[in-house]
Amino acid sequence: MTNSDTAPPKGLDALDAESQGILQRVFGYREFRGLQHDVISHVNAGGNCLVLMPTGGGKSLCFQIPSLVRPGLGIVVSPLIALMQDQVSTLKELGVRAAMLNSNVTSEDAAATYRALRDNSLDLLYLAPERLMLSETLTLLSNLKIGLIAIDEAHCVSQWGHDFRPEYLQLSILATQFPDVPRIALTATADEITRKEIVEKLSLQSGRVFVSNFDRPNIRYQIALKDDPRKQLRAFLASQPTGDAGIIYCLSRKKVDETAAWLRKEGFNALAYHAGMNGADRARNQSTFINEEGVIIVATIAFGMGIDKPNVRFVAHLDLPKSIESYYQETGRAGRDGLPATAWMVYGMGDLVSLRSMMAQSDASEQQKKIEQAKLNALLGLCETTQCRRQVLLRYFGETPPSRCENCDTCLVVVKRWDGTIAAQKALSTVFRTGQRFGAGYLCMILRGETDERVARFGHDQLSVFGIGKDLNDKQWLSVLRQLVAAGYLNVDVAGYGGLMFTDKSKEALKGSTQIFFRDDPTLLIPSKEKGRSKNTRVRVANYGADTEIVTRLKELRLKLAKEQRIPPYIIFHDSTLVEMAKAKPKTLADMREISGVGDAKLARYGEQFLAVFSDSSSPTPDRTMDRGPLVRTIAR
Ligand code: ADP
Ligand code: ZN
Repeated sequence: MTNSDTAPPKGLDALDAESQGILQRVFGYREFRGLQHDVISHVNAGGNCLVLMPTGGGKSLCFQIPSLVRPGLGIVVSPLIALMQDQVSTLKELGVRAAMLNSNVTSEDAAATYRALRDNSLDLLYLAPERLMLSETLTLLSNLKIGLIAIDEAHCVSQWGHDFRPEYLQLSILATQFPDVPRIALTATADEITRKEIVEKLSLQSGRVFVSNFDRPNIRYQIALKDDPRKQLRAFLASQPTGDAGIIYCLSRKKVDETAAWLRKEGFNALAYHAGMNGADRARNQSTFINEEGVIIVATIAFGMGIDKPNVRFVAHLDLPKSIESYYQETGRAGRDGLPATAWMVYGMGDLVSLRSMMAQSDASEQQKKIEQAKLNALLGLCETTQCRRQVLLRYFGETPPSRCENCDTCLVVVKRWDGTIAAQKALSTVFRTGQRFGAGYLCMILRGETDERVARFGHDQLSVFGIGKDLNDKQWLSVLRQLVAAGYLNVDVAGYGGLMFTDKSKEALKGSTQIFFRDDPTLLIPSKEKGRSKNTRVRVANYGADTEIVTRLKELRLKLAKEQRIPPYIIFHDSTLVEMAKAKPKTLADMREISGVGDAKLARYGEQFLAVFSDSSSPTPDRTMDRGPLVRTIAR
């Protein structure tokens, strides 16, 4: 794989101009984003490539536009039916001739697609990898003119990744089967190992690698210590407009069910999703989430892949994910449309214990377990950091971001740090004197000088450390112990009963030769009566500085049209398009066409109806609005 530019062959300027025209006429967008232009130009010229862009970065246009520009059919390999469905519906709405072949397609539809293929009347064909590899499909395609082959979610070829799909391995034959057709692989998984594996397995060595910046500037990161997680969650949700859709991740199926039921009781429109539910219920809940506005889905990580809903406004984690990669992938499902979104998480000691014991019990090799452990520690480092969260995240992905982003909790609220060198010594001695086998709760009692039947039985009230920590309260000691674990000064004994044990760093800290700083977690400082708002205080709809009444009416019209056609509302127009419309208040179709996201086909199909909203919007009624300006007040409640 080379990263150098090759001199463009003749005629490329014309192809570039055509691409620009398609961007505006078909997609209704003003300009290319980030690396899109470079990638498209490279593929137009017939080059192979691997494209790494974060979720929501705009990967689809990178193959959709060259498919329209280059002569012949564009083939897109996609691992999930839901993804194909979404893209094909989106393209059809834009007036692009797209179709798909997978196990869900009726035989009638499939026959029509085969006919269209023979008549050369398709621009793009989406296929599951196993369908593409059927010899009949390969024979059919080898008789057609193919403009390009795109391999979406290309990390599925990697055994290292979490989404490994054996069928993807067979895609290696595309290089020999279609030697003259450019191949473009795309993924949002950025790590070096996966990247190398994709290049190797898809024979892209001679192609280019396009690596985009992985920042998601519209996502606000907020991470807090678990105090009373339900209250914390309720307070967070209360700060979100009711019209907002979001995902809440939990570790276990049981917790998913309980949390969803509790949220419904609290008046939220919440549905559950996990692999233990029956298929019909699961599919119904997923479809409600996609097709309706303002649904909160409570899910295990079984939910997410294949969900392209662009207006997910928040992703909340009630339990720690396994790694920064998982955290970034899961939170990346928020705000694909570029509008402000929030990644919210609470974490606690219990999470560590359950994740570590899950890891200890798994069948993975020792090597693999070490990797997993290291990944979990890195995630804890993110939780405990006193630095900008975005900086920690992006550094983890190999970037060199600025030191402050001004859009995460550590940048927005002052993080109090304190010199905990002495507290660490006290905690570590207590762990040592009690024999390195007790959990945090017990250690707190000893530190605070409190006694119970167990303390008396073990005679721990006679120890020199008994009561040496009266200067801090229970919560503060728990925080100290957790941060000592996070910073690697203590380990959790997952093979035993979750007691805290020394690591090779402990002795050094015990001597006081290293200075240790702790994060003063904001949740420890908030008086409890401020937490949680009553259930009815959620504002109705986010307006992003536009007229709330108009945004609401535009959304209602969109929902009505979507229901008539049985497609998700966002396929008609994105929220960002409606917001821009509400601000621009178009009077004519020409005004409407100026709005980003309104291309020729949509203008013709929906222009008049959306214009009508403006002609009869007399006097907007006042409403409780929520302008997502500075959100500092929503943090640390
Ligand atoms: P990815 O596949 O990388 O997650 P998508 O291709 O789904 O991202 O694009 C994310 C969103 O951004 C889509 O809704 C898409 O329509 C929009 N988008 C992509 N490129 C542009 C652009 N140049 N201008 C405006 N919006 C864009
Ligand atoms: Zn920041």
